Amino acid sequence: MSQTLPLKDKNAVVTGSARGIGKMIALTLAQRGANVLIADLRAELAEATAKELAEATGCKIVATSVDVSNAESAKAMIDKAVAEFGRVDILVNNAGITRDNLIMRMDEADWDLVLGINLKGVFNCSKAVVRIMMKQRYGRIVNISSVSGLAGQAGQTNYSSSKAGVVGFTKALAREVGSRQITVNAVAPGFIPTDLTKDLPEELKEASLKQIPLGRWGKPEEIASAVAFLASDEAAYITGHVLSVDGGMVMM
Ligand code: NAP
Repeated sequence: MSQTLPLKDKNAVVTGSARGIGKMIALTLAQRGANVLIADLRAELAEATAKELAEATGCKIVATSVDVSNAESAKAMIDKAVAEFGRVDILVNNAGITRDNLIMRMDEADWDLVLGINLKGVFNCSKAVVRIMMKQRYGRIVNISSVSGLAGQAGQTNYSSSKAGVVGFTKALAREVGSRQITVNAVAPGFIPTDLTKDLPEELKEASLKQIPLGRWGKPEEIASAVAFLASDEAAYITGHVLSVDGGMVMM
């Protein structure tokens, strides 16, 4: 294993990677040597991100549109990765959304939408890739959960449930596929400045700092480096783990 490029010759799929944390994860994996499929809802944005990251890293970066909540679309995404790269070593289930509201005002549609993307999406993409990883007798699946899934967050019954579900899914799948040297782990970010958090009320942003021992929000790079570690051979003996990257906000 190269010291400088720990993911050389690895092929990765990152969902929701046209922007936000997913884009930073894709960049970090590529900087460590991996080829990456940028998979996101909007084809044009995914193409633009793939072009940008290919120029920045010199790795093979391709794009596809995917709706992770749709099983056929998730399968087509993995088929595309196999067609482009020949194999899939790493799947990062990053795509996620919020539709926050107090339960009294939360529509059933917003419950279904968030669970459909954040939890069923993880199932769809993992199911599509697991057979390939089983045959390879090698794989790394990293799921993006959240502090909200570990501690709960008022106004986020849908989101917190989906992210807690991701934790249970991670542990169950880790037990199912461990014998084939496939590891399944989760990263649980705290507050990270992206489009997902930009509209939070200023008072909530201020108040959040008091709950974070390190006294600041995290950076997308800090999530990405945790994901890259779990995706590497250095983490070969870690599975079913939830790694909080949250400045100490939630200590389990
Ligand atoms: P973001 O900036 O909103 O980016 C999310 C990306 O996912 C977007 O590119 C979005 O596409 C894509 N996406 C949405 N629905 C999709 C679907 N059905 N299929 C495929 N792609 C889809 O969010 P982020 O802050 O980077 O969050 C990334 C992950 O980290 C999420 O799972 C989130 O829950 C988690 N997380 C974030 C924070 C935080 O503070 N930011 C904290 C904890 C956990 P469009 O551009 O078309 O919408």
